Amino acid sequence: MSETIFSKIIRGEIPCHKVYEDEQVLAFLDIFPLSRGHTLVIPKEAKATMAELSDGAAAGLGRALPRICRAVMSATGASAYNLLQNNGSAAHQAVMHVHVHIIPKYESGEGLGLVWKPGKLDASEGSLLAGKVAAALR
Ligand code: 5GP
Repeated sequence: MSETIFSKIIRGEIPCHKVYEDEQVLAFLDIFPLSRGHTLVIPKEAKATMAELSDGAAAGLGRALPRICRAVMSATGASAYNLLQNNGSAAHQAVMHVHVHIIPKYESGEGLGLVWKPGKLDASEGSLLAGKVAAALR
């Protein structure tokens, strides 16, 4: 895949406000934060979307995430937060290197705003679709 700004941050060629690093993961403050403490957690494996990540890189990311969430909450004093993970430009992904946003939500409303317009799952369509996804996983 092509080089992104996050590869340069991983290599230390571009500075960041680092909060965590291990062999597989780097976490740093977002340069345009939605709220105080907005943090990006990235695998060092350079893949654009979650679906492309190797099991090893995904495991490293999954292991680090809860710990970093706890640290961000502890440092900011926020009591709620959203995790956001965009995949594809149609889904608002701007940097084509997997990243998870940790976005503290404050009582003032500062944080992630959501427009959530739920539909209703049709039972027969649900059976069909769940079967298709399960088959794709085999
Ligand atoms: P996306 O829309 O791809 O999910 O989010 C990309 C995020 O990366 C944005 O929130 C943006 O502010 C952040 N970002 C982009 N370039 C840089 C950078 O050079 N340094 C840091 N720390 N964050 C960046």
